[in-house]
Amino acid sequence: MILLDYIMNLSIFSLLVSTPLVIRSFIKLKPFKRVRLWGGIYGGIVSCILVMLSFQQQGYTYDIRYAIVILIFAYFGPMAGLITGGFALSARLFASGHWMPAIIGWSAIMIGFSIIHLYTKRLTPVKKCFYLYGTYIVIYLITVPLVFNVFRDKPLFHLQYVLFVMFGVMIGGLLIESYLKLHRIITEKDRMEVSLAESEAKYRLIAENTSDLIKIMGKDQLISYFSPSHELVLGYQNTELEKAELCKFIHPDDIFMFQNTIKALFEKKESLSMEFRFKHKNGSWIEFESRCMPVRGEANSIEYIVMISRDISERKKAEGFLLQSEKLSIVGELAAGVAHEIRNPLTTIKGFVQLYKAENSSIVYNDLLLSELERIETITSELLSLGKPQAIQLDRTNLRELIEKTLELLSPEALMKDIQFNQKFEETAFFITSEKNQLKQVFLNVLKNAMEAMPDGGEITIELRKGAEDDCVISFQDQGCGIPEELLPRLGEPFYTLKEKGTGLGLMICKKIIKQHHGSITYQSKEKEGTLVEIKLPMVN
Ligand code: ADP
Ligand code: MG
Repeated sequence: MILLDYIMNLSIFSLLVSTPLVIRSFIKLKPFKRVRLWGGIYGGIVSCILVMLSFQQQGYTYDIRYAIVILIFAYFGPMAGLITGGFALSARLFASGHWMPAIIGWSAIMIGFSIIHLYTKRLTPVKKCFYLYGTYIVIYLITVPLVFNVFRDKPLFHLQYVLFVMFGVMIGGLLIESYLKLHRIITEKDRMEVSLAESEAKYRLIAENTSDLIKIMGKDQLISYFSPSHELVLGYQNTELEKAELCKFIHPDDIFMFQNTIKALFEKKESLSMEFRFKHKNGSWIEFESRCMPVRGEANSIEYIVMISRDISERKKAEGFLLQSEKLSIVGELAAGVAHEIRNPLTTIKGFVQLYKAENSSIVYNDLLLSELERIETITSELLSLGKPQAIQLDRTNLRELIEKTLELLSPEALMKDIQFNQKFEETAFFITSEKNQLKQVFLNVLKNAMEAMPDGGEITIELRKGAEDDCVISFQDQGCGIPEELLPRLGEPFYTLKEKGTGLGLMICKKIIKQHHGSITYQSKEKEGTLVEIKLPMVN
C-alpha cells in the first residue's frame, strides 16, 4: 500500500515538475523577470501539494517535500530555495502537529543548504543536487532519529524516507536536465537555421544582383548552376540554358580554346582566365572575360569549377577607340611633317610662276596654275594645322560655284577616263558658310573615289537640291564597282582602303571637314551597280 501511495506521490510530483517545462517548450515565452522568485513560489506550491499528499505507515508520515526544495536550491539558488522551504514548512505546520522538530529540522536544513550553496556556486546543478541531498541526509539523521528520538529503533522507516526523497530528486533532476538539453538543441537548431537563412540570403543577393555571370560546372563538365544575371545579360531563361549544351552558345572560333582551358583546369587544378564570345538571345556575340576557379573535394580532386564572367565588349570598344585616336594623332603628326616639307619648294615654284606670268602675260593657263598652286599652299597649311586643331575661317559660299570649279579641275582626268559629269542643279542659289578650300577638298576626294571606282568609264551624276528643313543636299552617284554592305560602316576609318595605292585617308578627312561644317556624310552602295554619296550641309540666307 505504501508503495502505491508513494508512486502516486512521485507521479504527481513528476507531473508538477514537468508541466512548466512542457509549457515553456511549446510556448516561446520571453525570459521573464524575477524568474528565481517565481521559481521559488512555484516550488513552494508544489511542496504544499506534496505535503497534502503525504501518506502514513504505522504512525510515521511520509512526504517528499524536500525533493522540490533541493531541486529549487540547486537550479534557482538560495533565495528561491528559502521561499520554497518557507511554503513547505508552513504546509507541514498546517498539516500536523509536532511543530518543534519540524521547525528545528527545517532551520537546520535551510542553514545547511545555504552554506553548501556558498561552496558549490561554481558546480553544475546536478552536482549541487548531490551535495544538497547529502547534507539533507546528514541533517535528517542527526535531527529526526537521534535528537528527537523519532522511531530510533526503526531505521527502515528513516531509510525509506530518505530513499523516497532521493528518487524524487533524481526524477525531478532527470526531467529538468532532459528539458534543458532539449532546449539547448532546439535553440541551437533555430540559431543555425537563422544563420543559414541569413547567409543564403546574402549569397542570393550577390548572385541575383551582380551583372557578372556566375556558373558552376561539375566533374562531368556540365553546368549545374547559372546565376540569374544570365537572363539580364544574355536574354535566356535559366531553364533554356540548363537544357542546352554550353558549346552551342560559344562562338565556333572560341570553342577549342574554351575546351582546352577547362581541360587544363582539371589537370593543373589552378585557376585560369580566358576570353570568349557568348551568344546573346538576339543572335549577337558578346565578349566575356572569365575567371575559372577549381574547387577541390575531399580527395584533392576537382569537384566543381566556379566561372565568373564579365562582359568586356565596352572595354574592347574603348580600346578600339583608343587605337583609332592614336592612329589619328600619328596621321596628324605625319601630315604636318609632310606639309612642312612641301611648303618650301612650293613657295619657290610659286615665285617663279608669278615671275613667268609677268613676263608672258599671254599664257592662258597661268591663272589656273597660280590658283592651283595657291590651293596646294592652303591645303598644306591646313595639313600643318591638322596636328593642332584651331578655329577655321568661315565665309559665305555659293555651293554651286564651288562644285562647278571642282568639276572643272577634274575635267581633264574625266575626259581621259571616258567619264561624263551629269550635273543636275536646282535653279536657286544655295549659300552656306564654309571654309572654301576644305569643302573643295571634300568634293575632290568623293569625286576621285567615284572616278577610281569606274575604270571603264561611265557617268557620275552630281545633284544639288534643297533637303528637309534648312539643309541642302549634294549627292554624287557613280556607276562604279560599289562597296560591300558589311564594309560601309568602316568608311571614314583612317587607313581603311581597298585600293592598291590608296591611303585610306580621303574619306576620313571628308568626315572631319563635314563635321566641322555641322553637316553629315552618308554612303549607300550596291555592289557592281554604283555608290551614292550624300552630303548634307546647313544653309544660310
Ligand atoms: P583611298 O581612296 O585612298 O582608298 P578613301 O578614304 O578615299 O581612301 O576611301 C576608302 C575606301 O572606300 C576606298 O579604298 C574604296 O574601297 C572605298 N570607296 C570610297 N568611295 C567609293 C566609291 N565611290 N565606289 C567604290 N568604293 C569606294
Ligand atoms: Mg580616295
